[in-house]
Amino acid sequence: MMRQALLWASTNPFMSQRLPSYEFVRKATRRFMPGEELQDALDASARFGDVGIATTVTLLGENVETAAEADGVLDHYLGALTAIQERGVDTEISLKLTSLGLDQGVGETRARLDRLVEAAGAATVWVDMEYSGYVDRTIEVFRGVRERRENVGLCLQSYLKRTEKDLKDLLPLEPAIRLVKGAYAEPPSVAFVKKAQVDQSFIRLTSTLLRARAAGRAGRPVIGTHDPRMIGEANRMAHELQLGKDRYEIAMLYGIQSAEQQRLTRTGHRVRVLISYGKHWFPWYMRRLAERPANVWFVVKQLVG
Ligand SMILES: Cc1cc2nc3c(=O)[nH]c(=O)nc-3n(C[C@H](O)[C@H](O)[C@H](O)COP(=O)(O)OP(=O)(O)OC[C@H]3O[C@@H](n4cnc5c(N)ncnc54)[C@H](O)[C@@H]3O)c2cc1C
Repeated sequence: MMRQALLWASTNPFMSQRLPSYEFVRKATRRFMPGEELQDALDASARFGDVGIATTVTLLGENVETAAEADGVLDHYLGALTAIQERGVDTEISLKLTSLGLDQGVGETRARLDRLVEAAGAATVWVDMEYSGYVDRTIEVFRGVRERRENVGLCLQSYLKRTEKDLKDLLPLEPAIRLVKGAYAEPPSVAFVKKAQVDQSFIRLTSTLLRARAAGRAGRPVIGTHDPRMIGEANRMAHELQLGKDRYEIAMLYGIQSAEQQRLTRTGHRVRVLISYGKHWFPWYMRRLAERPANVWFVVKQLVG
């Protein structure tokens, strides 16, 4: 019930415009993002780097309405890539294709992504996965760029029933894949409803990815979850397959399971933390609260504390 309400709020334009203007709401987001500027995200990346944790940064915002806005986002990320290279931090970028113009056209979006991937040099540019209605177009754009360049990765969601087939179809490209459970409200016609089914799907997909990696048929597998059971399963499978800890990564979001991020790093695992920044954080923040409604109490405590 609470999850559905928070996911509804994440798509509500009125709340999206009004709530972020309140200082107390902005303050409550600090647990999940170090600040609104790129500089804040890179400062945090440098701090993670000091303890051996790599990062990915992402500018919050989705569904631009004009080609000019999409070009603005492209310019922002080109600048971000330069700043990352100048600071020498182990940081990649990840982005939503609707922020690069996916609603306006697939061809133009592919051209913008291609420019970014080229500018990134050896670093991987990650493509987020959004609502199920965008999956076909997102895969189409990803394929187009991956066929020309190696350093592009794609996020896939285990809650979608179609993902098993999508992954199988993509494997011949030897893609870098970030596997997550999925963060949007999706209908039962396309997504598993029960947590147990989503988890089972996550484990099956992790197995496919790690097996392909062990057989030299996949790019970098990134296991994106805070769920200790999923992480334990991934590590167990990798061990069984004799896949070294340096051949796959575990990724988490900034501010979530921080102690676990450090523990995994100390035990020789590769950990990457995704840091969000930017002014359009409302829908994203509601999705974070929806993942764990107990976080709502954390917000309430901050407000009264
Ligand atoms: C690196 C990364 C990239 C992502 N990219 C995408 C993307 O492109 N598209 C997309 O749809 N989704 C993305 N997500 C979000 C993802 O789909 C899930 O919504 C999110 O990771 C929560 O699922 P979980 O696997 O952690 O497991 P869950 O079953 O939701 O949670 C397992 C446990 O993790 C902890 N936990 C989980 N979430 C929170 C939270 N918000 N606050 C505090 N504790 C929490 C709790 O202990 C919980 O019991 C990404 C997640 C990560 C880590």
